[in-house]
Amino acid sequence: MANVRVAVRVRPLSKREIKEGGRIIVEVDGNVAKIRNLKVDSRPDGFGDFREKIVAFGFDYCYWSVNPEDPQYASQDVVFQDLGTEVLSGAAKGYNICLFAYGQTGSGKTYTMLGTPGLFIREEDYAPLPSSCRIKVSFLEIYNERVRDLLKQSDKKKSYSLRVREHPELGPYVQGLSQHVVTNYKQVIQLLEEGIANRITAATHIHEASSRSHAIFTIYYTQAVLENNLPSEIASKINLVDLAGSERADPSYCKDRITEGANINKSLVTLGIVISTLAQNSQAFSSCQSLNSAASDGDSGIPSSPSGTSSGAGPSRRQSYIPYRDSVLTWLLKDSLGGNSKTIMVATVSPAHTSYSETMSTLRYASNAKHIINKPRVNEDANVKLIRELREEIRRLKAMLLNF
Ligand code: ADP
Ligand code: MG
Repeated sequence: MANVRVAVRVRPLSKREIKEGGRIIVEVDGNVAKIRNLKVDSRPDGFGDFREKIVAFGFDYCYWSVNPEDPQYASQDVVFQDLGTEVLSGAAKGYNICLFAYGQTGSGKTYTMLGTPGLFIREEDYAPLPSSCRIKVSFLEIYNERVRDLLKQSDKKKSYSLRVREHPELGPYVQGLSQHVVTNYKQVIQLLEEGIANRITAATHIHEASSRSHAIFTIYYTQAVLENNLPSEIASKINLVDLAGSERADPSYCKDRITEGANINKSLVTLGIVISTLAQNSQAFSSCQSLNSAASDGDSGIPSSPSGTSSGAGPSRRQSYIPYRDSVLTWLLKDSLGGNSKTIMVATVSPAHTSYSETMSTLRYASNAKHIINKPRVNEDANVKLIRELREEIRRLKAMLLNF
């Protein structure tokens, strides 16, 4: 069992934030991210605001990418050393890996997840590919609860209606999604760029492209190995998920955008509910084991879901129903949330005071995700499984014959 690993990354002040006199209210101290509320006064008479001035959250990793001159500055390389190596070594061992970026629009999700030269798609890791490895990629977008293949240009209406289905053993998948064999790093980048360009042309205006849709770039990795001198295969999948801007999870935003807003909202809100429910379940599980397990982040415990529609269930109540199928995003990511993947979430935030409430909400959300427990397991190819079972059967029969 393994908890979802959660990282926070603070990007530099944008030009606009600098122009607006943005003050830095986020701080990173080791693996703790602190956020300061400038509106709260600590009044000397002791009757200060009931809210806290500084709230601290602990994570697995905190990255300060605000100013390259700072000694603690985390470049793409530093982030890669932690997360990239975890992703690639996990995939090489046969685990499915899911890495998703969560945060408000403009906070650095795409830069971290899909930027080129990017964090997880690096030349040295793909070129030259050993002949024992095969890599395929696919790239999809979820917009308005509909799935589109970003690497297959066809009739737009038709291409927006790919169906999600569920295989009894392999889990949810998108029917008809194109998979592209790649033999070198350049091809990965070309496909990534092609997909990003398709994502943009479909949007009504440029800002919509990444702020209102979720993009999932998947790398299927197969390695030929020898098992007991017989050829076998290790197959794994890396999902890089660039989520829609988290501000879309705010129901008030959707009032004017009945269809699109409500749908975008649906995937992110469902993700929030799934995360909250899983987090409550694992806390209930650990509180059964230990009375002292009510871990606190220096925050007020378990935050409600981003929609504000918290079920009201206390941390000690376990809910067996997890609403994965309520949205396309959570259905497709089912295995990555409380399932058999290793999952890493990168929460990206702006350091500026003008983004206080979005940053606070992102930190709460990320803090909640930390409690999810997955059960990663090494994938076994169906044929390999059959061969292994037959071999075991032969061994058993041989032993029976010898004893006969
Ligand atoms: P999002 O995908 O969350 O909407 P982007 O990844 O597009 O945000 O980032 C917004 C802007 O901030 C881009 O111009 C990007 O280059 C810049 N940026 C984001 N994160 C960083 C970072 N860690 N270091 C430097 N620039 C960054
Ligand atoms: Mg983006």
